[in-house]
Amino acid sequence: MVDVYADEGITGRSMARRESLKRLIHDAEKGLFDVVLIKALSRLSRDTPDSINIVRTLHSHKVEVFSSREGMIDDELILSVISAVNQRQSEDTSYNISWGIAVKSKEGIFHGTPPIGYDKVKPGKLVPSVVHAPTVQLIFDLYLNIGMGVQAIANHLNDELGVLPSRKNSKKWHDSSIRLILTNRHYTGDLVQGRSKVDSKDKKFLQDNGYKKRHKIDESEWIVVPNHHEPLVTREQFEAVQEKMKQKAARMFRGRGRKSLFARVAFCVDCGAGMNFRNDRKSYVCATYQKNTSKKCSSHIIKHDALKQVVLSHLKDLLENSLNMKSLVDVTIQRAGIKKNNAVKELEKLQREISKLDKELVQLTRKWTSGDIDTDMFNACSVAVKNERQALEERAARLQTEIAHEHDTESRVSAFKAELMKFASLDVSNEEILRDMIHKMINCVDVHEDGSIEISYNFQNPLKQEA
Ligand SMILES: [Zn+2]
Repeated sequence: MVDVYADEGITGRSMARRESLKRLIHDAEKGLFDVVLIKALSRLSRDTPDSINIVRTLHSHKVEVFSSREGMIDDELILSVISAVNQRQSEDTSYNISWGIAVKSKEGIFHGTPPIGYDKVKPGKLVPSVVHAPTVQLIFDLYLNIGMGVQAIANHLNDELGVLPSRKNSKKWHDSSIRLILTNRHYTGDLVQGRSKVDSKDKKFLQDNGYKKRHKIDESEWIVVPNHHEPLVTREQFEAVQEKMKQKAARMFRGRGRKSLFARVAFCVDCGAGMNFRNDRKSYVCATYQKNTSKKCSSHIIKHDALKQVVLSHLKDLLENSLNMKSLVDVTIQRAGIKKNNAVKELEKLQREISKLDKELVQLTRKWTSGDIDTDMFNACSVAVKNERQALEERAARLQTEIAHEHDTESRVSAFKAELMKFASLDVSNEEILRDMIHKMINCVDVHEDGSIEISYNFQNPLKQEA
């Protein structure tokens, strides 16, 4: 024990505390001690960012900080505090002001919460955070080069790297926060502002939600200042990630991960809201009902097991019918192929005729200029040729549409067939595979008040359309 740097009954902002703090840091510089014991992080300073700066200063002098409330204050704990503060700050404007951060929009100055991986230094500049920047780079690398999905990355960060909280009241990374990082253009070094604006007019939204509504602004109207700060990823990496995300989204329809089986699949048929899983009742209830109790919608409660069973039996029915349909599918593919081939042949013939007419027109023009035929004759003949050519062109266009359509049918039916074959070989007792299947094949499950359901599938039954 070297000393007690006490400040009984004095608030964090007072000069007296500043004096004890100055002495503490001064002594730390001199290497008088290795550890500082504090009661709680909040006792260092009332200002959270200030407390963090103090801890960091102590760390820089190789002094550990141990708090009786928070335990060892290491980098991870600091991160959790920072992100909790950042989150609160973005939700609460008054907090912003108490931080004394300039919120006036000024080009080239970053205002608001810095994205994770950056620290903000005055006036509104972003500098890579020593602790966070490598995490952001790791996330991009895992996604782009290792091929991990957002959920896998979140799991990896939680399980492998320990807890690096990313949100208020959360001790874990979530797929949503990983997604936000991967799509944040700030990491390329560009300053992007004006992505959304606050709607102060929507009083009802404010009343219902406790915060003002924000409108997204079209990307073309964003204010972008290129090369504003040090990038964490190259533009190429960033663009590659966006492209990969787009492709993934198209393939997967919707996210999965550690979520209940029918989340984002089951909907209340009466109000259109999603059905929320309630673990205590092992059931799904209408989200509107859950939020407003019985005022706006009824519960539409359905047991998870019952829903699963009904959906499974529907899927199995579909499979059985599908296997019966397999031969029909084959016939349809063949038929589409034959139709297409015929159309292609006819189109080729039409195109030959059209070029023949073009040559005729050239010959007519030659005869007219050389005086072999007079102007009246030329006009009459060329109009006839042009009309004929016009008719052929129109027919060719119709054929082209038909070919495209048949090609479409062909690939749609092939895709349908491939999907069914995959389905047939799947093991539905595996929850992961079942989830994947449900999300791939089912567009939505509408739940009625009496517990009956309607399923709509993601794929069109090609035979229904083409029969
Ligand atoms: Zn409802």
